[in-house]
Amino acid sequence: MTVHPTIQPRPGILDIAPYVGGASTIEGANRSIKLSANENPHGPSEKAIEAYRAMSGELGLYPEDHTPLFDAIARVHGLDAKRIVLGNGSDELIAMLCKAYAGEGDEVLFSAHGFLMYRLSALGASATPVTVPEQDLCLDVDAMIGALNARTRLVFVANPNNPTGTMVGRAELERLADALPPQALLVIDSAYAEYLRPEEDDGALELAASRENVVTTRTFSKIYGLGALRIGWMHGPEHVCAVMHRVRGPFNVTRPALVAGLAAMADQAYVDHCRVTNEVWRDWLTKELNSVEGLSVTPSKGNFLLVHAGDRVAAFDAHLKSRGLIARLVGGYGLPEHIRISIGDETACRLVAEAARAFPAA
Ligand SMILES: *Cc1c(COP(=O)(O)O)cnc(C)c1O
Repeated sequence: MTVHPTIQPRPGILDIAPYVGGASTIEGANRSIKLSANENPHGPSEKAIEAYRAMSGELGLYPEDHTPLFDAIARVHGLDAKRIVLGNGSDELIAMLCKAYAGEGDEVLFSAHGFLMYRLSALGASATPVTVPEQDLCLDVDAMIGALNARTRLVFVANPNNPTGTMVGRAELERLADALPPQALLVIDSAYAEYLRPEEDDGALELAASRENVVTTRTFSKIYGLGALRIGWMHGPEHVCAVMHRVRGPFNVTRPALVAGLAAMADQAYVDHCRVTNEVWRDWLTKELNSVEGLSVTPSKGNFLLVHAGDRVAAFDAHLKSRGLIARLVGGYGLPEHIRISIGDETACRLVAEAARAFPAA
């Protein structure tokens, strides 16, 4: 990398390894299925697509205020609309939280195999990223509490987590929130919350509604199938929302995103359908892959599986690719023996199972 002798960014920024997203094509293959970015294989609601198309005559106009989407989100989830902030994807909200609350000398905590954006955003703010060990690929709240100190400003917990698919329950999140030092904020990243059954809910929204030191983020990129449009939202105490509205760009969410998000939020029947379908095929594929010698799946609460393939993981990845199936190696997450496979549609899941069964034993 070329580093200029005198013109340099703030500390931390040159430590950021540029994010590499899930691959979407295989060289030489004419047909492939992308299972590397946890996208909804069924895409967004038809109503969201219609709303997006209908606004194509308004591309010359700046985005309008966020109130209609706040209201729609608040109605669906029973929240106070004034305590919602929209981001250009939840990635932007994560970056904004780091920018607003952490800087040089401050610590940003997350678990060993936590979502990569926490590290990148902490470094982007010149803060110190701190990884906390997990227990059986799951958040260890005791270890997290043990890592808290006077420098801790932010604690990020993805629940369920990507790429492990594991989660902790409501009582554990409350215990963590109770243990925070006075200057620290807990961020519960609920990018996959809509994939949970109602009885699996971790209470993140209620925590963010009732505590001064908890916020939660959600996204339209996963179950809502609107990754291209980049919309995420945060719910939290008034004092954090007020800060976020100061650091966000005035037009951070685009006009097409606002209208499509509104239509998508109004179509909860579609969300339910996607959740049920995902669960059916996730559970089916988990069993199928677990029955293959040498592969084992971490039980997942999301729309993806973390598959352990040991020292044959690169061979398994190549084998999947040879059949047009693009999964995601997760060495970058400290999991060099695992591969993450998104839950595709029925056809994709059957092709993955077939490929796994045909994977030559060591
Ligand atoms: C995909 C993902 C997000 C990012 O979502 P965007 O809203 O598309 O930025 C955030 N957190 C986790 C854990 C994710 O897996």
